[in-house]
Amino acid sequence: MLQQPNSSRLFAEAKEYFPGGVSSPVRAFKSVTGTPLFIRKGDGARIWDEDDNEFIDFCGSWGPLILGHNNPAIRQAIVDTVANGTSFGTPTRYENILGKLILTHNPFIEKLRFVSSGTEAVMSALRLARGVTGKSKIIKFEGCYHGHVDSLLVKAGSGLVTFGETTSAGVPESFAQETIVIPLDNKAALSEALEKHAHETACVIIEPVPANNGLLLQSKDFLEFLRAETKKHGVLLIFDEVISGFRVSFAGAAAYYGIQPDIMTYGKIIGGGMPVGAYGASKEIMSNVSPDGPVYQAGTLSGNPVAMAAGTAAVSQLTDPQVYADLEAKTKAFVSIIQTHADNKNYPLNIPQIGSIFWLAFSRDKITAADQIDPASMNYFKALHKLLLERGIYLGPSGYEVGFVSTAHTTDMLTYAAGIICDCLDEVFKA
Ligand code: PMP
Repeated sequence: MLQQPNSSRLFAEAKEYFPGGVSSPVRAFKSVTGTPLFIRKGDGARIWDEDDNEFIDFCGSWGPLILGHNNPAIRQAIVDTVANGTSFGTPTRYENILGKLILTHNPFIEKLRFVSSGTEAVMSALRLARGVTGKSKIIKFEGCYHGHVDSLLVKAGSGLVTFGETTSAGVPESFAQETIVIPLDNKAALSEALEKHAHETACVIIEPVPANNGLLLQSKDFLEFLRAETKKHGVLLIFDEVISGFRVSFAGAAAYYGIQPDIMTYGKIIGGGMPVGAYGASKEIMSNVSPDGPVYQAGTLSGNPVAMAAGTAAVSQLTDPQVYADLEAKTKAFVSIIQTHADNKNYPLNIPQIGSIFWLAFSRDKITAADQIDPASMNYFKALHKLLLERGIYLGPSGYEVGFVSTAHTTDMLTYAAGIICDCLDEVFKA
């Protein structure tokens, strides 16, 4: 049994102060068993909780930490910058440095605007798309998450092409009606939605690497079709690269698949573990953003110098494509140990993977759309998660979440972790 008296005590206290005891819902461990770990420190690929339990971490703060915890260059950049103060509400040279670095290595955008989270990036990108086109509806895919933007907290109704049904109290029905929801990996639904609604639709938004509802990898063919169809119908295409940006390659999924979207959003890795998001597009589209154009968007802490310095220190370590080749090779080897074991034992498990992202899908079939996931299969994950915590492996606390490998995960560490995961799978399927 994992001993965690300190985490338990802190969690009981936190529940007095915060809804569910947390600052973001999935942290509350509602989808798994036990008490959330209160993490005290991280270094490289490892984290330690308040009870001094040590874990190999595959959550990586939900994606930002592609260089592992406490990366020395990022830490030093933060310390150096913070010595001169934390925020001025003026332009600083730190924005120029990170902006230039990104634009030099990302041929898919010509200008960008920094914000403070992925949600803010997406919210602003939608406003930009609506402002540019003068149209109000948006099309999203079932199984893609884009932050807690009102008009995107919707799910599909029953039917191929439906107006959104809200998934959160507090989102007016009329907002949900501005969002059309279609399934992933379904050309017919996409064509139907565009044929019926292109005249009133500003944009289609997609996670080109859908990684928030399992890892629902799309074929390049489908993404190319999406690009061609949106262009044909005069509807903008937004790639939400909050996870995939700087993760599957420096310039994200756009570069990975070689597809030019109209607007891109970023978050997570771009801030090196500090709160940063961004959206970017061509000069022409970005000329619509305030103060150059009529689409208003602002932020007291946007382009915060300490966060910019952290982002620069992170992103500048990612300009060499070899970093991504190495990450992918390591992750493939790790996944292959587990997959081979599961196949030999005939367990219902397959592990989709792209770059350094993987997902433990408790199914024998390839899953490419949200409705193919059997909710009952999450019970396997729940059992596995508990066993893995006891053996010192930390996965994000939900079976719908993906895992992330960082440059700090060594091959030895990954082989060791894969061995433990195989042992724990044997436990799970023993019954
Ligand atoms: N878009 C995507 C694709 C995301 O994965 C997330 C967060 N998981 C967001 C947007 C929202 O980002 P944030 O949590 O920083 O607001």
